[in-house]
Amino acid sequence: MGKPTGFIEFERINPSRRSPQERIGDYKEFVERMTPDQLNQQSARCMNCGVPFCHSGCPLGNIIPEFNDAVYRQNWHEAYELLSATNNFPEFTGRICPAPCESACVLGINQNPVAIEEIEKHIIETAFEKGFVQPRKPNLRTGKKVAVVGSGPAGLAAAAQLNYAGHQVTVFERDAQPGGLLRYGIPDFKLEKWVVERRVALLEQEGITFKCNAHVGVHISINDLLREYQAIVLAGGSTIPRDLNIPGRALKGVHFAMDFLKQQNQRVSGEAFNGEVLLATNRDVVVIGGGDTGSDCVGTSNRQGASSVTQLELMPKPPEKRTATMPWPTYPMVLKTTSSHEEGANRQWAVVTKAFKGDENGQLKSILVADLQWKASSDHKPAGFEEIPGTEREIPCTLALLAMGFVHPQHTGLIDELGVELDERGNVRANEQYYQTSIPKVFAAGDIRRGQSLVVWAISEGRECARRVDQYLMGSSVLESKDQSYLINT
Ligand SMILES: Cc1cc2nc3c(=O)[nH]c(=O)nc-3n(C[C@H](O)[C@H](O)[C@H](O)COP(=O)(O)OP(=O)(O)OC[C@H]3O[C@@H](n4cnc5c(N)ncnc54)[C@H](O)[C@@H]3O)c2cc1C
Ligand code: SF4
Repeated sequence: MGKPTGFIEFERINPSRRSPQERIGDYKEFVERMTPDQLNQQSARCMNCGVPFCHSGCPLGNIIPEFNDAVYRQNWHEAYELLSATNNFPEFTGRICPAPCESACVLGINQNPVAIEEIEKHIIETAFEKGFVQPRKPNLRTGKKVAVVGSGPAGLAAAAQLNYAGHQVTVFERDAQPGGLLRYGIPDFKLEKWVVERRVALLEQEGITFKCNAHVGVHISINDLLREYQAIVLAGGSTIPRDLNIPGRALKGVHFAMDFLKQQNQRVSGEAFNGEVLLATNRDVVVIGGGDTGSDCVGTSNRQGASSVTQLELMPKPPEKRTATMPWPTYPMVLKTTSSHEEGANRQWAVVTKAFKGDENGQLKSILVADLQWKASSDHKPAGFEEIPGTEREIPCTLALLAMGFVHPQHTGLIDELGVELDERGNVRANEQYYQTSIPKVFAAGDIRRGQSLVVWAISEGRECARRVDQYLMGSSVLESKDQSYLINT
């Protein structure tokens, strides 16, 4: 433990950010680095708890009290060794994780939690600057070949671990560049793409082969992969967006959020794209859906110079603080005001979208909405939302972005051709312990298996799945399990 009185002496501070007015002028990250003194004080706040709830709050089982202590002592090499023992890509989670570790931090019972995510980002960026991050090459090769389909965080983590275990890994990616949603979903202002490229370059130096523009099930037959590789990891993500089939859905100006976000990410990277140009410039934008994807549409619309940005959510406005139904250390479903919201948006809750309305040219001009209220069940009706009479109204809208989540992975192509079993939600069925699908040599990890989730879960699943693949191929695995991570420093 760095400083026994640290949590009494120092308040939590967050890193400074460029002002909303300034940052909407570009797509660059805007969170600034803490000074060495600030970082030292923030790490000193860690109490090295007897039962570190932060550790179990983290899907990766990160060894948090130990790396906080190493940062306090300014032993950056030790901090990096501890962090990278459980997390292949701290540069991603240190920037965009919603930090369930902080929600579980014991200090959070009556103070602000330790700034774990920020400390994590500083450890990995310092490690890169000091040259500690080097390609992690295997000591020997097993002669086994593994194909990973999909290069999002789950596929990258599985590939990194399997390569380290000595297998020859090829990653197949249908897009032009590796990274999945890290590259084509999450905007640059949250995660600049050089961060993804820096990691992919390291993975290539470690011996992993990336084949891009390689759509398995379209350009490449899965049966060929089954013949050529001893094991296959499916990591294709959850890519089918939830639609809103209401009157006017076919009007010009109604689009899925990912079509809009992907195009902007390609634009920032200077990558060519096909299809209609989607821009919010001088348009009244309505984002339908109140989650992360919707928030990214808000930030992107403001940067493109939208005339107005409204975000609608079906559910009621969440409470600002924890309630009795979401006690510490659970992840609290409280009101989230993201950096994109700070930049400007008219947020409305408990609103149903009833119709898209257009002009004579078939161009969207407004949307029809109404307010909702929650009704408890009664003798006649089950519990549910009811429209409040007299609240129907039109909101001017020339660009509507549907950001209501993803239902399951794409079935046509790869999954249909493979004939792998699906669960009741349409995701690839593979149990959480073994990650093995109904076809013994085929494994699955990340959103394709668990449904739409988080980057930290994708990395965790990729790592655990790799261990199971290694066991399948070799009889036992050299890769440590998440449950053993607490042993690393004992
Ligand atoms: C807009 C947006 C913002 C988000 N923001 C955050 C955030 O801030 N923090 C957070 O923690 N999470 C966030 N998420 C969620 C997070 O990005 C995902 O949970 C995570 O990326 C899932 O990782 P994955 O590897 O399972 O799949 P993906 O990242 O979806 O990667 C799957 C890859 O597989 C490829 N693929 C699919 N099928 C094939 C095929 N047949 N052949 C070849 N390649 C194929 C796809 O092209 C894709 O590159 C966000 C999601 C979205 C959509
Ligand atoms: S729960 Fe919080 S205070 Fe306790 S060890 Fe973890 S980070 Fe430190």
